[in-house]
Amino acid sequence: MSPALSIYNTATRRKDAFVPRAQGQAGVYVCGPTVYDFIHVGNARTFTVFDLVVRWLRASGLRVKYVRNITDIDDKIIQRATERGEDIHAFTERTTQAFRDDCVRLNLLPPDVEPRATEYVGPMLDLIATLEAKGLAYRGANGDVFFSVRDFPGYGKLSRKNLDDLRAGERVAVETAKRDPLDFVLWKAAKPGEPAWPSAFGGGRPGWHIECSAMSCRELGETFDIHGGGWDLQFPHHENEIAQSEGASGKPFVNVWMHAAFLNMGDEKMSKSLGNVFTAREVLDKLDPVQGGEQLRFLLLRAHYRSELQYTWDLLEEAGTTLRGFYTALREVPPRPAAIDWSNAYSSRFQAAMNDDFDTPVALAVLHDLRGEVNRTRDPALSGLLRALGDTIGFLQQDPERFLKGGITLDVDALVAERATAKQARDFARADAIRQQLDAAGIVLEDKPGGATAWRKK
Ligand code: AMP
Ligand code: ZN
Repeated sequence: MSPALSIYNTATRRKDAFVPRAQGQAGVYVCGPTVYDFIHVGNARTFTVFDLVVRWLRASGLRVKYVRNITDIDDKIIQRATERGEDIHAFTERTTQAFRDDCVRLNLLPPDVEPRATEYVGPMLDLIATLEAKGLAYRGANGDVFFSVRDFPGYGKLSRKNLDDLRAGERVAVETAKRDPLDFVLWKAAKPGEPAWPSAFGGGRPGWHIECSAMSCRELGETFDIHGGGWDLQFPHHENEIAQSEGASGKPFVNVWMHAAFLNMGDEKMSKSLGNVFTAREVLDKLDPVQGGEQLRFLLLRAHYRSELQYTWDLLEEAGTTLRGFYTALREVPPRPAAIDWSNAYSSRFQAAMNDDFDTPVALAVLHDLRGEVNRTRDPALSGLLRALGDTIGFLQQDPERFLKGGITLDVDALVAERATAKQARDFARADAIRQQLDAAGIVLEDKPGGATAWRKK
């Protein structure tokens, strides 16, 4: 029996045993994309990490409610839609659909609920009204409504920031409408040409942080199990979510805070503002259409989620090679499907790794060893185990034959058959020419004893 799941909690700064609030269930909220553009590979890392978390919780027998929001109202969205002369709703419909398409290509499970901020303005306003009634929110002279940070005693507890240090770091010329430079906006007063909702605070639109407090609370309750996002969201976004949610409910907001480390380009994080981004779709477009999604996932999960990860094309190619090795084993030794026997040495090592704060580098190393064993023993039960363990973390579920052939358009099977006929007719020149043609197209032939030929992409 391997130890139960422990998760590194950003709030406690240590790995804690995971104890679901309700037995056998878990509520997970992940901050989703701001849909003003296509997601980049860095965003894809964070979403892939939480896809892994949800899959593993489910494989461990928990019933998970997985909520990942869409931020469909913010300054950048308004700016982009205005630049394009497009209606904001039509614009975010399109970008949200593009995000969903990318998620399918990345093999990400759809969340159980995908709340869109603009559909939760009512709950956001209720929350702001509660905060005002409790003396935690005030109306600024400019019509904006702010959260009063100094009135929430726990402010800074997640990011372990000290209010005085934070204030010292603030520029002097802050917005004068705020009482304290650290106060943050809950409701922005309407500006001409911008979308606005009517409210008791006057027409306006919600600030970013209030969205996630309202949507998570509505979908998962005032206290829930796991809240995730990228590393940069710890402060101020998640700190502000805690202030709003706990300020309003008086209850603990989240049991476990999880943050995925950055994907970097060189020494810097991949980020739109630094201009060093590859969108997920442009990377996938360069890869084989059948193999690419799983290949990118392999790259993203090869590092532990709390370690920074370098994005390079070489690492991506290496991920493809490793993955093809797995699929080759599955093709050579057709898996016998069976429920996972967790007492098996490989399964229990794999489970121990995943239960140790989702240690994918170790878990994938176990699969690698298991693949070696499959190749040695040619045991369909072990091959079945390899496939089943892969399934718990979102790998190895494609048909091996189809995967290895990839999405190429050349009629390889016909050429392979023609080559066999040529060889039989002792037309070795023709047979060699076909081999060269396939080689140029990135196809490797493997002649088997008995005359059969298998092929795969290089
Ligand atoms: P955004 O749409 O900018 O709110 O980002 C969506 C998610 O991607 C957030 O959880 C971010 O923290 C995360 N993220 C942004 N850049 C990176 C990066 N370079 N590596 C990993 N995660 C990132
Ligand atoms: Zn959020």
